[in-house]
Amino acid sequence: MIIFDKEFGEVIVRKNSLSRGVKFSVSTSGRLSMSVPKYTSDFLAKRFLNSNRQAIRDKLPLKDPNEQRARDYKKKILMKKAKDYLPYRLEYYAKLYGYSYDKCRLSHANTRWGSCSSNRTISLNIGLMNLPEVLRDYVILHELAHLHHMDHSKAFWSEVAEHDRNFKIHEKRLKHFSPGV
Ligand SMILES: [Zn+2]
Repeated sequence: MIIFDKEFGEVIVRKNSLSRGVKFSVSTSGRLSMSVPKYTSDFLAKRFLNSNRQAIRDKLPLKDPNEQRARDYKKKILMKKAKDYLPYRLEYYAKLYGYSYDKCRLSHANTRWGSCSSNRTISLNIGLMNLPEVLRDYVILHELAHLHHMDHSKAFWSEVAEHDRNFKIHEKRLKHFSPGV
């Protein structure tokens, strides 16, 4: 459940049968999150929030609610752009070089640009839309090559090299960017 607070913005309330008291933490999106016993009413949750306001301010590294909203918006736009582009780009290269995969999934993990699972699903990070085209293509070609080699062996890299001669440079350049949105 989410309650709205004038100071903290959207506050995530997790009702948990195991929790006895109220615990405050910061969610991955930078929002305030509170865990409360299962049968806590919204009214009571708000009261807990009010009586702990100062402690929350002092202890928790919360993001400004406006900043949260701006980030959510940016993510939404990026997702839209990614949906209109990445699956098609992947399909294009797969056809061009004779790969077959099962599904293309869009992700917004903070740590990786892409992945390829053993059930032939390729995940691509929506943050790829913020990269220069050559790097975006490199990530796609890298993940496609994993369809044939599920590791980073010599055979894998030589397959990548067949489709991107400058893969070493691209791999290095990629380290200057972060996939987090
Ligand atoms: Zn890899």
